[in-house]
Amino acid sequence: MPSFDYDYLIIGQGIAGTSVAWHLHDLGMSFQIVGDASMPSSSRVAAGIFNPLTGKKLVKTWLADDLFPYARTFYGNLEAKLDRKIMHLTPIYRPFRSIEEQNTYLAQTADPGISPYVAQTPDPGAEMPYVNADFGGLEVVQSGWIDLPALLDGSRSYFQERHLYVEAAFNAADLTRTEEGVEWRDKRFKTVIFCQGFFALENSWFNWLPFTPVKGQILEIATDVPVKPYIINQGIFALPVAENRMKVGATYSWNPLDWEVTEAATEELEAKLRGPLSTGYTLMGAQAGIRPSVRDRRPLIGIHPEFPNVCIFNGLGTKGVTLAPFLAKEFCNHLIYGKELNPLVNIKRYFSLYFR
Ligand SMILES: Cc1cc2nc3c(=O)[nH]c(=O)nc-3n(C[C@H](O)[C@H](O)[C@H](O)COP(=O)(O)OP(=O)(O)OC[C@H]3O[C@@H](n4cnc5c(N)ncnc54)[C@H](O)[C@@H]3O)c2cc1C
Repeated sequence: MPSFDYDYLIIGQGIAGTSVAWHLHDLGMSFQIVGDASMPSSSRVAAGIFNPLTGKKLVKTWLADDLFPYARTFYGNLEAKLDRKIMHLTPIYRPFRSIEEQNTYLAQTADPGISPYVAQTPDPGAEMPYVNADFGGLEVVQSGWIDLPALLDGSRSYFQERHLYVEAAFNAADLTRTEEGVEWRDKRFKTVIFCQGFFALENSWFNWLPFTPVKGQILEIATDVPVKPYIINQGIFALPVAENRMKVGATYSWNPLDWEVTEAATEELEAKLRGPLSTGYTLMGAQAGIRPSVRDRRPLIGIHPEFPNVCIFNGLGTKGVTLAPFLAKEFCNHLIYGKELNPLVNIKRYFSLYFR
């Protein structure tokens, strides 16, 4: 019988690696999570918004009825474990641009799949004089944002205290595959799980998967007037993070794929912000990151086609906050109990790319 020092080695401590780690922890598995605080992370740039109704057409987020209740419980439990505020249940206010838009949206809200996510209370636009809402607006509920830096820092400290976190830049050359599992730094593990976000492109076990990464930038502004706890959404979002502070985002760009803030992206966001926001503000800062998006817009999760001890949990794209908790649960049940993984997220759907 092979003996292991740990069950799992997790590479990457963004929302993907952290969610997987918490599920393994709660299931009594042993693991080491490897993170490098000096490397960029999309999760640290993200606004952390979870929004059940997206886009111009008010499309319900894929799997919303499963993802949202589970995410709320997961983040709520983490708040208790880490004894810090992480989850903000904040409604989203979508001011209409015209009477036509008002009519279209209000008709859509009659859909029984959509209506549970729309407030039935009076339009809160009047409480927000800093928002251009001449035609009224729609209030989306069951939405909010996760303070990702608080979650990631709190989790890191928790795991560090229990010797479950290693601060290191993982180098694939240091990993050895054996008949039974993998070895790293003289420790034996049953399975390695790569949760590297964009950096999966540098990982020769998984760089054949069809990642289509997307760069994004957000701004932080100090508003001239106090703002209410409503996320404003009209083509862009303005997220209140404090009484006079908002995060504004986000851009989508493909070239160059780097982590640099650009003046052009700042101008684009400021131009879009003039639509819904009527108050003055001061630009306080900007951040850019790279979303680990995928050709078919579904996560990339599962076990390597040839090496059963090598796994990936990635491809969370624009919705890491919503997707990570529920899919980490499904993935851990798959690894530990052999439960079937949703074929739409399982990397098996792309095995033909590996074997061609
Ligand atoms: C501008 C912007 C706004 C966004 N807003 C939202 C939002 O409001 N809501 C939402 O849900 N999503 C949002 N996203 C998307 C979100 O950021 C991603 O879905 C999510 O963060 C992906 O998480 P991840 O853990 O897979 O990747 P990451 O957060 O990038 O984590 C991967 C980690 O692995 C580490 N790593 C990689 N290689 C190594 C190595 N060799 N050694 C050690 N560590 C390594 C990296 O440093 C990183 O910490 C936004 C993204 C951007 C760019």
